[in-house]
Amino acid sequence: MTCPLPVRSWLTPGRWTRSSTRSRTSAWPPLRYSTKISTRLSLTACVRWAPTFKEERLMATPAKHALLSASAAHRWLKCTAAPTYEMQFPPKTSEYAEEGTLAHSICELYARKKFTVMSTRKFNSELKKLQEHPLYKPEMLTTAESYVLYLYGVCMRYEGMPHVNMEVRVDLSDYVPQGFGTCDCIIIGGDTLHITDYKHGQGVVVEAEGNPQMMLYALGALKRYTPVFGDKIKRVSMAIVQPRVTQDVKECEMTVDELLAWGENVVKPAAQKAFNGEGEFCAGAHCKFCRGRDVCPARAKLNTALEDFKDCITPDKAQNPLDPAARKVLGLPPVLTDAEVGDLLTRGANLVEWYEGLRSYALQAILDGKEIPGYKVVEGRSVRAFRDTDAALQKLMDSGFDKAVIYDYEPKTLAQLEKIVGAKRFAELLGDQIVKPKGKATLTDEKDPRAAYSSAVVDFAGVVQDG
Ligand code: SF4
Repeated sequence: MTCPLPVRSWLTPGRWTRSSTRSRTSAWPPLRYSTKISTRLSLTACVRWAPTFKEERLMATPAKHALLSASAAHRWLKCTAAPTYEMQFPPKTSEYAEEGTLAHSICELYARKKFTVMSTRKFNSELKKLQEHPLYKPEMLTTAESYVLYLYGVCMRYEGMPHVNMEVRVDLSDYVPQGFGTCDCIIIGGDTLHITDYKHGQGVVVEAEGNPQMMLYALGALKRYTPVFGDKIKRVSMAIVQPRVTQDVKECEMTVDELLAWGENVVKPAAQKAFNGEGEFCAGAHCKFCRGRDVCPARAKLNTALEDFKDCITPDKAQNPLDPAARKVLGLPPVLTDAEVGDLLTRGANLVEWYEGLRSYALQAILDGKEIPGYKVVEGRSVRAFRDTDAALQKLMDSGFDKAVIYDYEPKTLAQLEKIVGAKRFAELLGDQIVKPKGKATLTDEKDPRAAYSSAVVDFAGVVQDG
């Protein structure tokens, strides 16, 4: 059997010493490590050599797209009909996806600089190329720093030298026909295999707990590294780094036995069904990124089953809890309880999202020349504007109108002034002049990472009035 680690990882410990020296002279951006970390040896000196960028990149290039991708596993594990159904819709690439790919490349470059031997010159020249991309944003450097800082911290948790591998292609075909994936970073040491996935998106908060993409990657990583580490690996930990949403890295851990059981009992049967085109439709929250969601009959059925609303709260009871007469019999108050309101809000949100998707599909269909009975596309409201503002205003002044009547004299915004003055100088000069009023109270679901709004009622909840 071929060893999945390059032979030199075991034979050239001298590399660790050399790379340690290089890391001190590198152009690595300054990072604020905790005292515990900074007092330890440079990590580059204690991490075993990982495959080079070129080797891993070549391995990571998929020959074709798999029908059952790991990133869509949360969908096809629930709706086994989705992969075959989605084939009729061409895959779309968005600017967000391209931006994410670029951010990943920068993260990878930073990680290679930290954990492998790479000259500052090479690092700078590769970074420069990436920065020339039209979607490049300076924020990507900060997020890459957060990513590498996290990886560094994980390595420091190990007693001995962990193996660090970036952009590792893993084979998932033991569980998912033709399945493969690419792990952003795999760290192995002691009895633990740690997988980290970087997410650049902000729209959806990704959890590590119960994340099937990560669990599939972990299965693939076990397959790849078990020939080397044997049964030494007992635990698998998985992490999601999503620095644009939160600095708190989401982590979860499970035993290898639990993971293997999930692969056998949950993944294998669902993947076989989905791959053979024998799956069943099942609509739900997982429809969000399905390519055919707007015109999926199963999703439409779920969302048009408005009659189900009446059974949604206490379906086990014979009496309809939304029937005013029945509420007394059921011991419910005459108005909706807060629990009922929460449940209806969740159901309503899915309905609104589905309806908006349907509207945008219909708009595009009509623009493409199709007919949607009962609907047409019209011009929306537009605002009048001068063809040439300066020329128009000059004409007014030439006609005798005073400039003070025509122009409003307004200062630049706080953000514009901060940009002109520079953040540091701005804070020195005007730090004590800035106030941040409380934002407007906004209802959102409990998974939103922002801190809960603190109103006076909440602040004083539990305070007993004297007298
Ligand atoms: S929209 Fe939902 S129910 Fe329809 S195929 Fe996609 S995942 Fe399945």
